[in-house]
Amino acid sequence: MKAAVVHDFTEPLRVEDVPKPEPGPGEVVVKIEASGLCHTDIHAAHGDWPVKPKLPLIPGHEGVGIVESVGSGVTEVEEGERVAVPWLGYACGACEYCASGWETLCEKQLNTGYAVDGSYAEYAKGFAKFVGRVPEGVSPLEAAPLTCAGVTTYKAVKVSGTRPSDLVAVFGIGGLGHLAMQYARVAGAAVVAVDIFDEKLDLARQLGAEYTVNAREQDPVEEIKKLGGADAVIATAVSPRAFEQGFNALKRGGTIVFVALPADNYVQLPIFETVLNGINVVGSIVGTRLDLQEVFELHAAGRTRVIHQERQLDAVNDAFEEVEEGKVDARLVFNFGVEEPSGQAEGVLTQEAGGPSEQPTGTVKEERGPIPG
Ligand code: NAD
Ligand code: ZN
Ligand code: ZN
Repeated sequence: MKAAVVHDFTEPLRVEDVPKPEPGPGEVVVKIEASGLCHTDIHAAHGDWPVKPKLPLIPGHEGVGIVESVGSGVTEVEEGERVAVPWLGYACGACEYCASGWETLCEKQLNTGYAVDGSYAEYAKGFAKFVGRVPEGVSPLEAAPLTCAGVTTYKAVKVSGTRPSDLVAVFGIGGLGHLAMQYARVAGAAVVAVDIFDEKLDLARQLGAEYTVNAREQDPVEEIKKLGGADAVIATAVSPRAFEQGFNALKRGGTIVFVALPADNYVQLPIFETVLNGINVVGSIVGTRLDLQEVFELHAAGRTRVIHQERQLDAVNDAFEEVEEGKVDARLVFNFGVEEPSGQAEGVLTQEAGGPSEQPTGTVKEERGPIPG
C-alpha cells in the first residue's frame, strides 16, 4: 500500500510502498478515505518534542475510513462501518486515570501516528475499543479534522469551564482554533479570535467571532483588556509568546488552557499576578472517546462547520510547508478518493453559511509571510 513515511527528523517524508497492516487480536484494519493534517504531524516529523516518535513512522491521527477487516475478539465494530482512528489509539482501561474518565492521561496509552503507525496511508490499524464511530451523514472529509482538532478543542473549552456570559479568547485560528471558537460559541460565550494573518481572522468572523485581533498589528493584551479581559483563553497558536499574551489578557479568576505544543517548550509566567489574580493554568490533551462521540453528534446536528481543503498524499511535503507558513484556511485533508457531494463548498465559507458577524476590531490588510519563531 502507499504511505507517507518519516525516516529521519531532518529529511522530507517519502511516499513509498509499504506492507499493508494485518489486524491482531482486538484490532481493526481501516481502508482510509480521508486523513487530516494536524500540526502535531509536523512536530512528529521534525522530532520537535521531548519524547520522540518511533522511526520509521507513518504519521496521521485524523484518519477516517471503512473497517475492512477485524482481528480476533473484536465485538465493538464490524466490517463495513465508518470509523475514525484518533490520537488516543489505546489506553489500558484499568488504571486510576482510565477508571476515572481520564483515559487521555493513561500512562500505558499508545498514540496513533507517533508510537504506532497512523493514517497517512491507504490502510491503517486501530484498536477496536478506541476507534470512533462516524455517524451517518457526516462526510469523511469533515469527520477527519473533528477526530483531533475537534475533540481536542471541544475538551479544552469544557475544561475551561466556559459559561454563556463569558468572553473567550482563542489564540491561533488554524485547524484547532477554528473549531475552538465554535465550541466556545456553542457554550454561549462571545469570542475574540487572535491570529497573525488577516485571512484567518476573516474566517473567524465568518464563523461568528465577535471580535478579532491581528497580533502583528495590535497588542492582543491591550485589545482584550479593553473588552474587560478574557474569562478563558484557549491557546492553540504554535508560539510561546502567544501563551504569554493569553495569560496577560485574562480577567481575574480566569483560566488559560494550554493546547498548542510549540517546539520551543517554555513560557515565562509571573507568580505574583497568578496568585493575586487567582489565575488557573490548565493543560489539555486531546479528549476521550465520549468527547469524540459528542463532537460527531454536534456536527451531525449542524452545530459546527469544518473548514477544509483537500490535498493528495503525494504532495505531503508541500502540504506541511503550507501549514507552517500559515497559508491554509483551516485544515488540510488528504483525500484518498472521497467525492464531496455537490454544493458542499470547501475552504472559506460563503457569507450566508457563516451567519452574521459583528464589527471586528480594526485590522489592516497585509501580505502573508512565514510565521515568525
Ligand atoms: P495550525 O498551524 O493549523 O494553527 C496554528 C495557528 O496559529 C495558525 O492559524 C497560525 O497563523 C496561528 N499563529 C501562529 N503564531 C501565532 C501568534 N504568535 N499569535 C497568534 N496566532 C498565531 O495548527 P493546529 O493543527 O491547529 O495545531 C496547533 C497546535 O496544537 C500544534 O502545536 C499542535 O501540535 C497542537 N495540538 C495539541 C493537541 C492537544 O491535545 N493538546 C492536539 C492537537 C494539536
Ligand atoms: Zn492532532
Ligand atoms: Zn489506563
